[in-house]
Order: sequence, then structure tokens, then C-alpha cells
Amino acid sequence: MGAIHEKYLRMDKLPHIWCPGCGNGIIMSSFIRAIEKLGYEKDEVAAVSGIGCSGRITGYMDFNTLHTTHGRALVFATGIKMANPGLKVFVFMGDGDAAAIGGNHLIHSCRRNIDITAIIFNNHIYGMTGGQFSPTTFRNKYATTAPYGTTDPDFDLVNLCIGAGASYVARSTSYHAKMLTDLFVAGALHKGFAVIEVITHCPVNFGRRNEFDTPADMLRWQKDHAVRTAKADMVPMEEMEGKFVIGELIKKEKPEYVEEYDRLIETVRKGDAHRE
Ligand code: SF4
Ligand code: MG
Repeated sequence: MGAIHEKYLRMDKLPHIWCPGCGNGIIMSSFIRAIEKLGYEKDEVAAVSGIGCSGRITGYMDFNTLHTTHGRALVFATGIKMANPGLKVFVFMGDGDAAAIGGNHLIHSCRRNIDITAIIFNNHIYGMTGGQFSPTTFRNKYATTAPYGTTDPDFDLVNLCIGAGASYVARSTSYHAKMLTDLFVAGALHKGFAVIEVITHCPVNFGRRNEFDTPADMLRWQKDHAVRTAKADMVPMEEMEGKFVIGELIKKEKPEYVEEYDRLIETVRKGDAHRE
């Protein structure tokens, strides 16, 4: 572990509880590098997480941290940002957390465009609770709740967030760790709601049931199925079947929620507001 990690981690909370070979440590490491690049002071950063293996990240990092309830991390984060807009607010969620119980909060955060960076650890399974299938588990994959394979189609989180109005949406994988750092930096600098989906690996509760012998096999799968945005347009549609695009997928300017809200308060204070 390098000095950069010692600077940002709560060393007294280690060792972590993540299984050997899990992708979560790669994502945390990429995030720490992003904060170092951004040059944020530790006290300027608020890190909020939900429930699940990914949710444990806020226990290990030495920022203002909040480990909240299942699916509600964005709600706590919204309150933090509204109360203290100067904070750089980051939210960490798993796929079940973000797209199932917290799906409602995710789409409305996208619609509002509040200046928060949401990082979704998508390992296509409920890891911590023992391997139940989640909204992002691919069809015909095995889970403790789908011993004969799933029949549900999976959610495409990127398209969901773009459709809900997010002004910044990107995707990468735990294999593409350097790109992850770059996207975390770009998401943090973007004014508005930024979603970064990380396709990651749970070797214990997804991999073992779905014919991945080792964590390295899962990383190889990510490498072989990810297509960078610059290349995606050149790849014939039939070759994109089963693959996914990584990089920045949408980036646009929209009014930011806290600024709009503050503007309204100021207008009312001055007595200029129109009321029916
Ligand atoms: Fe990682 Fe899966 Fe273990 Fe959770 S259960 S720590 S996601 S490998
Ligand atoms: Mg998960």
C-alpha cells in the first residue's frame, strides 16, 4: 500500500471485509487516486454509501462519511448537498441498492440534476446477502434465487440514467482502473448529477455460480466485452451483441438543482416572486 492510500484510508479499520479477488478494492483505489488528482482536502469531501458490500467503502475512507440505509444513500446525500453546497458529495451504491430499492431515488436525482457524483458498483448480483439476482443480473445467469437461471431481462443502468435526464453518464470496469480514475475526476468536475457505472466482479457470489473459475477470468471477461466510445460507432451492430460501451456516454449542461433552489429563495426574499 502506497503513501497515497495511507493518506486517505482509515488504517485502523483495516483489514477490510471484502473477499479476496473482489473488485471493490480496485474501485476504492481508483477513487482515492481521483481525489488526489482533484486536489480536494479530505474535509471538503462527503462520501455517502448504501447497504451491501460496496456500502462498506465509507468505513474505510477518511472523509466526511455516512453509511446509510438500503437504497437511500442518494436521499441522505441530497440533504447534505442542500445543507452544505460547498461539499463535494460522492455516493457509492451497489446495483441492487441503486436500481432496485433505490431505483426511485436514482431516477429522480437524474431528473433534478443535483450536483452529486454517484458511483454504482455493478457486479450483477446481491453480493453481501448471499447471491440473489438483482435488476442487472443478465438473463439465464445463475443466482441463489435463480438456481435454474434467471428469466428477467436486465436493466441497462446507463440508458436508464440518460432517459431519466442525467447530465453526465459514464461507464467503465474494474479492469479499466485508470479510466475509472479519469471518469471519477470528470464526474466530480461536472456541474450536475454525474453517474458512473462500474462494471465490477463478485467472484464469490456471481463468478462461482456462473462458470468463472477465478477473479482474473472475470477481469478478462470485462476486457473482452467492453468497447470504448471512440470505437463503438465503427463496430458493426451484430458484433456489439453482448458487449457494452465504456467511456463518457453523455455530458451536457443543465440547470443545477441547488443553484435553482437558492435562486428561488433569493427571489422570494426580495419579494419579486410571482404567486398564484
Ligand atoms: Fe466482493 Fe462478492 Fe465478496 Fe461482496 S460477496 S466482498 S461483492 S466478492
Ligand atoms: Mg451488487
